[in-house]
Amino acid sequence: MDTNLLLNIAQQYGCPVYVYDGNTIENQFQRLQDAFKQVKKLKINYAAKALTNISVLKLLKKKGSGLDTVSIQEVLLGLEAGFSPDDIMFTPNGVSLEEIEEAVQLGVHINIDNLSILEQFGAKHPDIPVCVRINPHVMAGGNSNISVGHIDSKFGISVHQTPHILRIIENTKMKVNGIHMHTGSDILDIEVFLYASEILFETAKQFKNLDFIDFGSGFKVPYKEGDLETDIEELGEKLTVRFNEFCKDYGKNLTLVFEPGKFLVSQAGYFLAKVNVVKQTTSTVFAGVDSGFNHLIRPMFYNSYHHITNISNVNGKQRFYSVVGYICETDTFASNRKIAEISEGDILCFHNAGAYCFSMTSNYNSRFKPAEVLFYNDAVHLIRKRETMADLLQNQIAVNFD
Ligand SMILES: *Cc1c(COP(=O)(O)O)cnc(C)c1O
Repeated sequence: MDTNLLLNIAQQYGCPVYVYDGNTIENQFQRLQDAFKQVKKLKINYAAKALTNISVLKLLKKKGSGLDTVSIQEVLLGLEAGFSPDDIMFTPNGVSLEEIEEAVQLGVHINIDNLSILEQFGAKHPDIPVCVRINPHVMAGGNSNISVGHIDSKFGISVHQTPHILRIIENTKMKVNGIHMHTGSDILDIEVFLYASEILFETAKQFKNLDFIDFGSGFKVPYKEGDLETDIEELGEKLTVRFNEFCKDYGKNLTLVFEPGKFLVSQAGYFLAKVNVVKQTTSTVFAGVDSGFNHLIRPMFYNSYHHITNISNVNGKQRFYSVVGYICETDTFASNRKIAEISEGDILCFHNAGAYCFSMTSNYNSRFKPAEVLFYNDAVHLIRKRETMADLLQNQIAVNFD
């Protein structure tokens, strides 16, 4: 996004503020759709948890996206945004049967990821079709925090337990209309993804009433220059061939489903924070901003890299800084990072701040959550107000001890 526009937004709405470029979100959606245009039935369900602002949900709905949700609250947000229940998939992990039944009441599709709930659900509601989440035990990416398909993962029903799933179906007469996998957050190696897909196809053959196969997500986007990204176009070509072959053998045109989060919104986001203080110590120069891990936790939580630029001094001399927050704990956004010379009052821009940034914010240190702004088709929309003291106090009950 244009630097002056970002500066204007920071000036108008104050810092810290999240800014999203709606056209980038649209383009990413279009790119994924184009990569799979040879598939007769394609469904893209945006993974809401990446960024749940209702205006972002509405924008994706307008593009024709469905929604992948992981809590009953996300389901309700999706309905509030105008998604039809038929376009919402509920893919929770470790929730109660009651929460799943609540989702069923709302008319959304459900995806079950353990045998215990599958058996209980099938016994009670044999007529309501469900999708099952399979764990193909394929390790995608290198970081065990974000690879969820491998052997020790809590997600999904092991592919080796397929006979048990089939027995539950036989005993309860329940219907399984889809099978699903979501192997992790970092698919770099398309061959690894295709390998996992083959396992899913093998498994799918054993289910007689499928309407769709859901390949989850895990598309990697670049966070810094030189980063590799998932080659969606190549994946589209290769998976399309295999999917169409599979449908032919299966005797039915199934729907191919994806549920991307990061791919759609990561690069569309910019987080703007103001430099409160520049502090020279014996070892480094700290740039302290008016934010912390309460607003952007990925660097501290996942050791994630977020590119940082000084939009108040774009052509300044490059110097080394440690960018830190104002939280009373260690909250380092970046160490020893080359950034254009920083002065107090400058606005720093954190890139790739669309996915898992605002949605992971908290009120730690009793700070307000930032405002959110959506820039779309040349118009700037405030889509979330900055919090106030009233928000912090809203649900607190003061006991009077006098
Ligand atoms: C989080 C999640 C996604 C989205 O993953 P990204 O890496 O953001 O694309 C998709 N499916 C499920 C089930 C998820 O939990």
